[in-house]
Amino acid sequence: MTEFSARTRAANLDRLRDEAFDVLVVGGGIVGAGVARDAACRGLRTALVERGDFASGTSGKTSRLIHGGLRYLRSYRVGLVRQAVRERDLLLARAPSLVHPLPFVIPAYRGRRPGAWFLRFGLFLYDFLSRDKTVPRRLWLAADATLEREPRLSSDSLAGAGMYYDAWTDDARLVLAVVKDAAEAGACVANYTEVVELLHDGGGRGTGARLRDVIENRTFDASARIVVNATGVWLDRLRAPRGIPTIRATKGIHILLPRTKVGNRHALALTAPRDGRIVFVLPWNELALVGTTDTDFGGDADHVVPNAGDVAYLLDVVNSAFPQARVTTDDIVSAYAGLRPLLRTRRIDARESDISREHAIFEDNDGLISVAGGKLTTHRSMAEDVVDLVSARLERTTATPTKERPLGPPIRALSDFTTMGFDEASALRLQGRFAPEQVRRYLEAPRARDRIVDGLADVWVEVDVAIHEEMAMTLVDVLVRRLGLFYEARDQALGVADEVAERMAETLGWDASRVEREARLYRERVAEHRKFRENRD
Ligand SMILES: Cc1cc2nc3c(=O)[nH]c(=O)nc-3n(C[C@H](O)[C@H](O)[C@H](O)COP(=O)(O)OP(=O)(O)OC[C@H]3O[C@@H](n4cnc5c(N)ncnc54)[C@H](O)[C@@H]3O)c2cc1C
Repeated sequence: MTEFSARTRAANLDRLRDEAFDVLVVGGGIVGAGVARDAACRGLRTALVERGDFASGTSGKTSRLIHGGLRYLRSYRVGLVRQAVRERDLLLARAPSLVHPLPFVIPAYRGRRPGAWFLRFGLFLYDFLSRDKTVPRRLWLAADATLEREPRLSSDSLAGAGMYYDAWTDDARLVLAVVKDAAEAGACVANYTEVVELLHDGGGRGTGARLRDVIENRTFDASARIVVNATGVWLDRLRAPRGIPTIRATKGIHILLPRTKVGNRHALALTAPRDGRIVFVLPWNELALVGTTDTDFGGDADHVVPNAGDVAYLLDVVNSAFPQARVTTDDIVSAYAGLRPLLRTRRIDARESDISREHAIFEDNDGLISVAGGKLTTHRSMAEDVVDLVSARLERTTATPTKERPLGPPIRALSDFTTMGFDEASALRLQGRFAPEQVRRYLEAPRARDRIVDGLADVWVEVDVAIHEEMAMTLVDVLVRRLGLFYEARDQALGVADEVAERMAETLGWDASRVEREARLYRERVAEHRKFRENRD
């Protein structure tokens, strides 16, 4: 499969209307994408619909870590950590272009938690739980060795630091890779397609769903023997009304700051001075990605943005760990917020199947299977559990091949890209994202090799790949999730938004008013994510 475009989407909407599916998966976050991939790989006739763009929900707003969750060891959730580190190691092996090892420094200070010995024991256990890992083992650093590695870290009462490895990923691109692999395995996939209602037969059993093409605003019905509800924090909207909702949402925000200002060389796991929570400071190219917060959320789940209080909390963590940083709101390049789909209680009704302590699968009387909880890291094993249940309900004997199946483009030599005329930084970026053949197909396009924004490695050919091979349907899709300029450009790509929209218009056939609308929607999105600046507290 090469083409995965608006045209593919249109053809898939026809298929959704005309064909009968074994399973219809609702929600194109990491969980729905994982379920669709697993089901399609097992040979089930599979469809996946997402009402916005892939990863436009929680899965595109994470800390971008593939990790065991060292902090869960504080509460002795050893089984959970073991499962997550195993999935991390599997992803490092099967998805090497998407998931990369990341060395962490976790400092210990005298008179503060975590104490040095507690930390050393935690890191020992963390290592022990992932004995087959390929990443290096932990290391304990004395205070002076810690400061050699992180010279701008606060040295006051520093007792030393642990060094250990986890992994990082670009969350939205990981989701996209899983979606594309599902399509490769035969799944019928469409973004901007919303389930507005579930369909039932006379006996009350589910028969499929009424879908709305969000772009054309047309509704039609899709038929499926099983519907899987993987809609994250929106899970309860599709389930039959119940006294206690399944999901409780908490909000987590991140900010991106210039790394030269913060001063971190590695990824750091820091303890927040206000409440003792762990906050990450991660290297993200030239920036430091700082997060996250964790606050109860009762607002509109469709509009979640960072506020001044959230931002002040994270700036406080950075400034106390790196006293010379003195970062303020003015230093922030970008900020974003997401909602955690936490399970409200362990036992909501008798049919709940508590598969692990982090995710759960619910089966309603109409046959709807809902799945929630979990992490980006553990999506594959969650999907395996869900599709085992789907197969049982379909009376099919299947086994998942996803443990062995590669994910994402294979890593090819840097010279495959530099010989196409890209400078080294852009070639490195492309190498981590595409196969050389993908890039070569669009080299004839105007300015294909040119950078989009001065100082950043993103090149114009990426916009063409996004349209033709990544089902990018809107300007926001391209600038936020396919390229990431929303996060990394100093002006959040406002200066190039019109130009990128014009380039998309040529392929997607947009008229002038559509171009204007796309640019306006993008500007509104940026403005919404900068509101915290107006309301300093
Ligand atoms: C701040 C934060 C940081 C995190 N960091 C990490 C991390 O570093 N590593 C990690 O492993 N995990 C992390 N997590 C956890 C992880 O991100 C989530 O558990 C995971 O992304 C949830 O995925 P999901 O597919 O269930 O939800 P979502 O990604 O929200 O997907 C649900 C999708 O369903 C769609 N949808 C809703 N209703 C409908 C409908 N009617 N029709 C069609 N589509 C619909 C939505 O548009 C949405 O895209 C983090 C979470 C948060 C909040």
